[in-house]
Amino acid sequence: MSFLAEGSPVVLGSANPKKAAELVEILGSRIEVVPRPLEIPEIIEDADTFEGNARLKALAISEATSMAALADDSGLMVDALDGQPGVHSARYSGENATDSDNVSKLLAELVEAGAMSSAQRRARFHSVIVLRRPDGAEVVAKGTVEGTISLVPTGEGGFGYDPVFVPLEGDGRTFGEMTAAEKHAMSHRGRALEELVAQL
Ligand code: IMP
Repeated sequence: MSFLAEGSPVVLGSANPKKAAELVEILGSRIEVVPRPLEIPEIIEDADTFEGNARLKALAISEATSMAALADDSGLMVDALDGQPGVHSARYSGENATDSDNVSKLLAELVEAGAMSSAQRRARFHSVIVLRRPDGAEVVAKGTVEGTISLVPTGEGGFGYDPVFVPLEGDGRTFGEMTAAEKHAMSHRGRALEELVAQL
């Protein structure tokens, strides 16, 4: 891995503990990661693309730590809602929205849009990962998983919209009903990280 100096760890850009845990699990021993230092203040993610927001996080963390930083920006795009919640996935139902608030709003918006069949409830998760060195060099990787939004939430696993996302290549269970390994094998984040490692 010549992009990263031998043995030098990478700082994780995510302040979302469940997302950070997934990144660590998927990478395993392939890239050594350290958590985002608590003293780094919240980073305003005001770009209008996943890549732009991932870059804002990677840049802020690499500048603050003088280390390489890895940031994921991700979200859910629903066809019947013109691609929403998209880059606004984390705060879809408001500034201090919980995962459950966001899922409730999503299900209500789909009812409102009259999208009740699985064909009308097509969606995808997208993840863009930026790995940035303090000297500004970057590797960018992307991953997507196609699916549908279920009528009701099912399963306790994962985070965010996992209880209502049924991947097309699965067996009908939501991400929330899968083991972490099952989700990572087909998830947007799993795919983006595999592409990242392949580029290094
Ligand atoms: P970010 O931290 O700004 O990238 O926020 C991403 C948001 O998208 C999360 O807070 C979730 O609402 C949603 N999201 C991203 N990836 C996943 C996933 O793997 N499962 C469920 N929801 C996700």
